[in-house]
Amino acid sequence: MALPFPTRQLYYDGQVRPATSGKTFQTINPATATPLADIQIASHADIDAAIQAADRAFSVWSKTPYIARARILQKAATLLRERNDEIARVETLDSGKAFTETSTVDVVTGADVLEYYANYIGGGGLNGETTQLREDAWVYTKKAPLGVCVGIGAWNYPIQIALWKSAVCLAAGNTMVYKPSEFTPLHGETLAQIYTEAGLPAGVFNVVNGAGDVGAYLTSHPSVAKVSFTGQVSTGMKVAGSAAGSMKYVTMELGGKSPLIICPDAELDNAVDGAMMANFYSTGQVCTNGTRVFVPRNMKQPFEKRLLEKLAFVRAGPLFDDQTNFGPLSSEVHYKKVLEYIRHGKDVDRATLLAGGLGKPENLPHDLQAGYWVRPTVFTDCTDDMRIVKEEIFGPVMSILYYDTVDEAVRRANATEMGLAAGVFTKDLNRAHRVIDQLQAGITWVNTWGESPAEMAVGGWKKSGLGVENGHKGIESWVQNKSTLVDMSGAVATVFAKL
Ligand code: NDP
Repeated sequence: MALPFPTRQLYYDGQVRPATSGKTFQTINPATATPLADIQIASHADIDAAIQAADRAFSVWSKTPYIARARILQKAATLLRERNDEIARVETLDSGKAFTETSTVDVVTGADVLEYYANYIGGGGLNGETTQLREDAWVYTKKAPLGVCVGIGAWNYPIQIALWKSAVCLAAGNTMVYKPSEFTPLHGETLAQIYTEAGLPAGVFNVVNGAGDVGAYLTSHPSVAKVSFTGQVSTGMKVAGSAAGSMKYVTMELGGKSPLIICPDAELDNAVDGAMMANFYSTGQVCTNGTRVFVPRNMKQPFEKRLLEKLAFVRAGPLFDDQTNFGPLSSEVHYKKVLEYIRHGKDVDRATLLAGGLGKPENLPHDLQAGYWVRPTVFTDCTDDMRIVKEEIFGPVMSILYYDTVDEAVRRANATEMGLAAGVFTKDLNRAHRVIDQLQAGITWVNTWGESPAEMAVGGWKKSGLGVENGHKGIESWVQNKSTLVDMSGAVATVFAKL
């Protein structure tokens, strides 16, 4: 039977090229558990060829003036916006995220970052510094690109991750070989074609497909200068270790188990809305999810009541229906993992199941029953030692933890090896800043959750990552500094002079 999409090949040196491995895998529509396309797997020879193409392109692209680079990246952002719905439709089929989400967030926030860095470099953002050292001597600095870089993406925000990595990489004058997650590979070729159409020279952005072994080959390749990785902490550690073997630069965007502290004075509706966005948006498959929700003990009854009322607004259903705001999990393997955590929460951790649990969402249409759907799930009266409270589940599973004092909540919030995100809900301005200041996380929010605009540098503390993406800071890790001292005195200050 013909699949909905044609076979995906590789894309390097400016065009689609067949893989030589003779091997393929299938990408699956998680809403229905049916295959979407065959994907050709890159062989080592194919990866070498893509890296060589990126290496050749580097000599041209790195010398392309900022304004000219910016014009191409801006054109790519325009093309992405023009094709928003078409791309979002494929993202929905590939990732299982509702079209209400992919059509308003995924492509848009990717194009925003492209536009942001195009404007940044076009406006002189990569200029160096000049210092007059003394009357006849100067120091000037230059921000030089690194070379061929590798981008490795997770499956939860496929094209957005590809754009967050490639926009800054290319703006800084580097070239990239990108590997999408094997669970959501369809966007890779589309993005490469858009870049080419926008005028990007052949070889500047390349895509190779495959699973972890393709990623491992890329990250240990001697011709690669930097690896930008998004994925789990455990994989990130392997990737950083392999990159360190040849002294590559790394940016690591990893997982989290982020705390959301609701203070006693918080506005109840806002707090519940924040907790729901922090747990059920994208069916809980967001790295910054606030899955540990700390609530004042004396707020238990109203908080749980309002949460249960609002859970009725989580609407699983056909992904292209404009009422649907909750999709399936993105793959069978992930579906089984999340169900196992829910089972563990009930049977081993013995947390109180307030809502959801095992089984499919209510009223799910018959034709979606085979898909990887789970219920939005809330455990309450949780304790810090439970496995569901300690480990990243990456699904729609909220743990409510009650506390007596805000200081206690902060201490418990920080008692984790991860430090990706954190947030606080309070009407007290001073308390908001005091609590945020004490929370050990790289991305923090006050009275909101989840927004991550191009201007905001984001990255994790502790085991949640290394470096940041986006914002002015985000581009600094894609360039290397060169400092030059120029002496105009006409004489070298030597100690080896005749006595
Ligand atoms: P994984 O770590 O399983 O995979 C991430 C990517 O790494 C995939 O492309 C994967 O390939 C590839 N990979 C696997 N093994 C290796 C290896 N040895 N060397 C190089 N690459 C390898 O993460 P998931 O895809 O499951 O993504 C979910 C995770 O990502 C969550 O932990 C989430 O928190 C995190 N994440 C972090 C974000 C952040 O900005 N901090 C943003 C989004 C997600 P393949 O899948 O094809 O096997």
